[in-house]
Amino acid sequence: MKLRDLRPCDSCGKQVAGRMPDGHTAIQFYTVRISSVLLDLRAVNENLGLAQYFQGALALAEVFAPNPEVAIVIGDQPDAGGWTEALLCFDCYTTPIRICGLAEGINDRKAAAEAAAEKGCAE
Ligand SMILES: [Zn+2]
Repeated sequence: MKLRDLRPCDSCGKQVAGRMPDGHTAIQFYTVRISSVLLDLRAVNENLGLAQYFQGALALAEVFAPNPEVAIVIGDQPDAGGWTEALLCFDCYTTPIRICGLAEGINDRKAAAEAAAEKGCAE
């Protein structure tokens, strides 16, 4: 994470700075990555069919299945852009948060910043 990627807490907007035991200021925050996952039903059926053939041995079925990976995490590479990364302060990290609203807010701010940057380049 680069310095320019640091921002206030994505949930409450507070700065993420804190104090170390010796009194000097430090930055403590948490990152949470939110990804979508697709379940490949064809691969599930292939694996379950083979497991039935092998009398319930799912591990054996996964060896012989054409596609043992049944769940696909969308954009699980850092540069793929398929996930939403939230920065959270300690208070928000330890408080129940509605993940959907958090991700939506982050993506809305990101889209607005990109649109502003494009507008700035066009002028
Ligand atoms: Zn917070």
